[in-house]
Amino acid sequence: MSAPGTLFVVATPIGHRGDLTARAREVLGSVDLVAAEDTRHTGAFLAQLGIQVPLIAVHEHNEGERAADLVRRLQQGSRIALVSDAGTPLVSDPGYRLVAAVAAAGLPIVPVPGACAAIAALSVAGLPTDRFAFEGFLPARSSARRTRLESLAGDARTLIFYEAPHRLAETLADLAVAFGAERPAVLARELTKLHETLYRQPLGALAAAAASDPNIVRGEAVLVVAGAPVEVAAAIDPARLDRLLRGLLAGLPLSQAVDLAAEATGERRNRVYERALELRGGG
Ligand code: SAM
Repeated sequence: MSAPGTLFVVATPIGHRGDLTARAREVLGSVDLVAAEDTRHTGAFLAQLGIQVPLIAVHEHNEGERAADLVRRLQQGSRIALVSDAGTPLVSDPGYRLVAAVAAAGLPIVPVPGACAAIAALSVAGLPTDRFAFEGFLPARSSARRTRLESLAGDARTLIFYEAPHRLAETLADLAVAFGAERPAVLARELTKLHETLYRQPLGALAAAAASDPNIVRGEAVLVVAGAPVEVAAAIDPARLDRLLRGLLAGLPLSQAVDLAAEATGERRNRVYERALELRGGG
């Protein structure tokens, strides 16, 4: 049996052709087969690059059966590139079942990273990036969409959504209701393309703008929404803390009293500890 081949997961541009990396071009020009979401679209793209390579369609309707065939080809030594119509495969695009099958077969998989609309939007949103969640497309049915949004309303992480142009106004209106009209957000439209535009407005203003200006919902868009504000614990009344601590210190060791008082009041443990020392010392 020949040495196994490799599956390359290759990102392609989300608009600007210059965003195809040199390495992606080299890999696409060197593989035996390109597995593409849409062979016509990718065929035209490769032709512009002067690359001639056999193509095979892998899309949401045939991915399961194609995966077995592609695993067999990899086992026989083929080098295969997986691409989607735009951006990074598997990110709201086909490829998950194929990659899972190739991984389960223990065959090599190599990422060839590049454009991804979610990350491009996040990188310019100016919203916190230390913790974020990619939510992809919301459910198309409005009742399911609202239920999903309610479950996300208290999430403190920055949230990233994809949306189709014809649903964008409706989704913004639902977001404004579920998260509050004042929640900061950025609508990133047509990234890397001629009409690239960033709208930085609270959800209520974005929803109103999308309802009245058809230009805003034209083209492709990513929504980046600030996380729920972390509830700043209400400053605790010092007299109440003292009463509680005195009662607890009368019957418990210091550290246990501090733990219970901190838990009961939401006050920082260090601060409670300092106060407990003062009280115990007669302060
Ligand atoms: N795999 C792609 C990626 O890596 O971003 C995403 C594919 S998904 C089917 C298409 C969605 O991505 C669009 O509906 C839109 O929400 C977002 N998108 C793709 N290209 C975009 C662009 N140039 N500007 C803004 N959003 C874009």
